[in-house]
Amino acid sequence: MDNDITPTGIEVSNSEQILEIDWSDGHHSEYSLFGLRKNCPCVMCRGGHGNMNTFDMELFFVEPTQHFEIENIEQIGNHAIKIFWNDGHNNGMYQWDTLRDMCPCQECYPEQE
Ligand SMILES: [Zn+2]
Ligand SMILES: [Zn+2]
Repeated sequence: MDNDITPTGIEVSNSEQILEIDWSDGHHSEYSLFGLRKNCPCVMCRGGHGNMNTFDMELFFVEPTQHFEIENIEQIGNHAIKIFWNDGHNNGMYQWDTLRDMCPCQECYPEQE
């Protein structure tokens, strides 16, 4: 993808359990908090440096078995955000391109019904 694509808006809804991102190219992404938290890109959650870019897209579509909330989002430079979860976890740096790669919409992830 084009590295110039950046979020123009990020909105969290803990009640609806989603995080929405509007991108500078007009694309719109909606992530379930469960999928985002379970795909946390930190070394600990990935289980090692070798798995850093391995994400399980199915996690965005399954029925959540856990309720997660976002307490805060901090922007890291101009390339990533850090998400502060209500379970105290905040090691994950979600890069823009990672987030865009994870976009579970029909267009980005057409394998889904
Ligand atoms: Zn993590
Ligand atoms: Zn998409």
